[in-house]
Amino acid sequence: MRTAAKRIAERTYMLTDRLTGVNQFLLEGEERALLIDTGYGTKSLPKAVAKLTSLPVVTVNTHLHPDHSNGNKFFGKVYVGERDLPSHGVPSNELFEGVAAAYGRGALRPLMKFARRLALIDPSTAEYAPIPDAIDLGGRRVEVIPCPGHTEGSVLFADAETRAVFAGDAINGEQWMFTCPASSTGAYAELWRGLEKELSDFSELRISHSRKALPIGFIREFIRAFETIKPENGRPSKIKGTPEPVTFYEYESERYGRIRVWAYPSQVR
Ligand SMILES: [Zn+2]
Repeated sequence: MRTAAKRIAERTYMLTDRLTGVNQFLLEGEERALLIDTGYGTKSLPKAVAKLTSLPVVTVNTHLHPDHSNGNKFFGKVYVGERDLPSHGVPSNELFEGVAAAYGRGALRPLMKFARRLALIDPSTAEYAPIPDAIDLGGRRVEVIPCPGHTEGSVLFADAETRAVFAGDAINGEQWMFTCPASSTGAYAELWRGLEKELSDFSELRISHSRKALPIGFIREFIRAFETIKPENGRPSKIKGTPEPVTFYEYESERYGRIRVWAYPSQVR
């Protein structure tokens, strides 16, 4: 089976696509289960979910990106942050088309065809609805916290029962901001200063691209990484086909190692 399932806490599972390493999470209450993200769209995900729970499943996305949303087609109705509803457009499709056009010549062309199947989101394959402020699973309540920056509609799921925050791509050691040109590094640092206080009772962050949880103390160093960004310290990335050059800013944390922020120069403000 392509999806690996691991119990990470009572009534809580991490589902990992073995090929791409992307995580989804399943939280059970007494009446409903919550599926956080649906991956690139491999059929083994709905099978793994059906094996783990017999409860009705509420499906949500941390944000609308193909590695979190392309499996939505298996689950019917899906809740996403208001600003990520496909009725506002699908910015990741435009970004992909630009990059694909820059790379999709010559030898890379067949690879791009394959990449296109994975990377483009077709909004017609699921029914989208705006996410509520909290999701009641019956004896287990999961709070939804807006976290715009990686996308405009990114949200966090705070689960008091396990003291875990399911964050998608909103925080990690390789933070992509160029995926949301409207965001700025200053505003994102400010947002996380507020979240650090709000989440002080929580113990860990569960993210999409690592099986290891981040301790909640990572937030402090993440903010620090943003605070130390200076325009002159930006280094050009090799990513082609974007409206502005993607630039990265590195910060070396004593405790957590390298934290990099990937942004357009115009977002550094
Ligand atoms: Zn993402």
